[in-house]
Amino acid sequence: MAENLASVREEISIANRILSHEGVLDAFGHASVRHPTDPDRFYISRHRAPQLVGPDDLIEFTLDYKPVRPTTLRMYSEGIIHGAIYQVRPEVMSVCHHHSPAVLPFCISGAELVPVFHLGASMGTKVPFWDQQDEFGDTDLLVRTAEEGASLARALGENWTVLMRRHGATVAGTSIREMVFRTIYGCVNAELQWKAQQQGHVQRLTPGEASRGGTHNIKPGPLERAWDFWEHRLRMAGGHPNAAAKAKPAAAKARSAKPKRAAKRKRR
Ligand code: MN
Repeated sequence: MAENLASVREEISIANRILSHEGVLDAFGHASVRHPTDPDRFYISRHRAPQLVGPDDLIEFTLDYKPVRPTTLRMYSEGIIHGAIYQVRPEVMSVCHHHSPAVLPFCISGAELVPVFHLGASMGTKVPFWDQQDEFGDTDLLVRTAEEGASLARALGENWTVLMRRHGATVAGTSIREMVFRTIYGCVNAELQWKAQQQGHVQRLTPGEASRGGTHNIKPGPLERAWDFWEHRLRMAGGHPNAAAKAKPAAAKARSAKPKRAAKRKRR
């Protein structure tokens, strides 16, 4: 169990960095994971830009966003978003909240974000719009209170992505990798929808296409292939949280392979 917990903590650190490296998160936004064996707890980083998050930055929280162990570390203002969704969606294991420039035009104009291509279906067949004004009037637009978090979670409903007026988006997944896939391709879909609309009327995928495409995309094959690609890009950029440890086996393999090739050449 401890090993599983360590690997989950490493994976959500990698997810924070992948989402930053792919341009979804910047100084702000965050990604969390539910505790693998205690559904009433989740992990999210201390107050830190997600590209810098490592396993040691993660703090364990109850679902009402109270730290399980007393801490003097500064915490994110909007961690309640994550806990509020974990409270009402037992199948959700990972959540991302972001302010990607890809989705913000939709958050500002109120235009509906709809799946327009096959991978875009991964963000969900319907993307609801949450307006904090409706229940809370003028705020600083941050989701700070349990009531605000619960309201956002209600707006998400049974969907996977919810847009937040003048603010950003929140995305859920049944695993870390599914959350990352939905988040990144939701942003790609938003960019493509906006660009295609410059060329004329854009029709969404049919409900059947969106449902079938979305179901296929998050199967293990596509999920793993995409995760490996994004993780490789992160490693090549030098931003992997565990670069040294992962580089060792490859280096050892290369060393052991060399003499064999040399011996072969000699025999020839
Ligand atoms: Mn925010």
